[in-house]
Amino acid sequence: MRKKLLDIICCPKCRGDLELTAEETKREEIKGVEEEIIITGKLVCKNCGKIYPIKDEIPYLLVEEV
Ligand SMILES: [Zn+2]
Repeated sequence: MRKKLLDIICCPKCRGDLELTAEETKREEIKGVEEEIIITGKLVCKNCGKIYPIKDEIPYLLVEEV
């Protein structure tokens, strides 16, 4: 996921802000703008504490446990 996405996504469960913990990142130019891409990491809800994993650049914002 693009790091910028963090500004627009929120916890699907409680709409709280998400805190990003990046484990693996890369920089990529998208439409002439260099952006930070999160490859693996996690998003933690500051409100309810739910953890959402990021794998292969995709954030898994699922309410139910997989
Ligand atoms: Zn939450």
